[in-house]
Amino acid sequence: MRLKDKVALVTGANSGIGKAIAERFAAEGAHVAVNYRERANNAEVAGQIVKSFPTEGMTVAGDVSKRDDVERMVAQVVAKFGRLDIAVSNAGLEIKKPFLEVTDDDWNKVLSVNLYGSFVVAQAAARQIVKQGPGGKLIFISSVHEDIPFPEYASYCASKGGLRMLMRNLAIELAPYQICCNNIAPGAIATPINQSVLNDPEAMKNALGEIPLGRFGRPEEVASVAVFLASDEADYVTGSTYYIDGGLTQQVTKY
Ligand code: NAD
Repeated sequence: MRLKDKVALVTGANSGIGKAIAERFAAEGAHVAVNYRERANNAEVAGQIVKSFPTEGMTVAGDVSKRDDVERMVAQVVAKFGRLDIAVSNAGLEIKKPFLEVTDDDWNKVLSVNLYGSFVVAQAAARQIVKQGPGGKLIFISSVHEDIPFPEYASYCASKGGLRMLMRNLAIELAPYQICCNNIAPGAIATPINQSVLNDPEAMKNALGEIPLGRFGRPEEVASVAVFLASDEADYVTGSTYYIDGGLTQQVTKY
């Protein structure tokens, strides 16, 4: 059990990568707070995820782009488990649009969840970790697009590029408190965010052509790196991005 008795908050954990991380953390002995945004049947899904844990967990409703929600979420976790050791900023979204058509609304929506949301979750978690001491782990689910351009996703790329620098700054600023900060940068992972590509054979063919391992990754393959970064085994690991991309970032010139 690599996370025995640790307390973790995972944002956007009702789906995809966040769900896999929450489930794996619980399997490794952690008490996990499953954050979900109140929409559709998210509350019910989050409740079922927590019920399946071998450890005691909890659900926490909240929109990561709202400071009050995030501070309340952290307070709820501390009220139940007495502390917070690990925060995974996973909640995210993307809007595909040609740059010339992007509206302020599109831009603000993506930046407020992916970048501001990660900032405010990291700050609320770090304040708690500093208060309780000693040490903790902040993990951000970034993207290969913290580095690689992606036409028609300018806001998404800007948010993840910003997340790269946010994490690197926090790694320095929070080092005196023994808080380790790292990014996980997935490539193409089979989750609902990619449903339109997964449903489109032509788009799939193009996507797979760019992935040396020739397949999409599974959310569980992201979770296994998250467990390492959250565990005591990674106590000397801070300020880095870990790519989980089947080789996607090692672009080969094909002409
Ligand atoms: P997903 O759509 O299954 O999960 C995204 C989650 O974020 C959902 O649970 C959604 O409800 C939640 N969310 C969105 N806005 C929120 C808000 N304001 N407050 C709280 N929760 C909110 O997709 P996923 O692939 O699991 O995405 C998880 C993270 O991984 C995202 O940050 C995404 O950018 C990143 N990522 C995914 C891939 C991929 O190929 N799937 C690649 C790179 C990065």
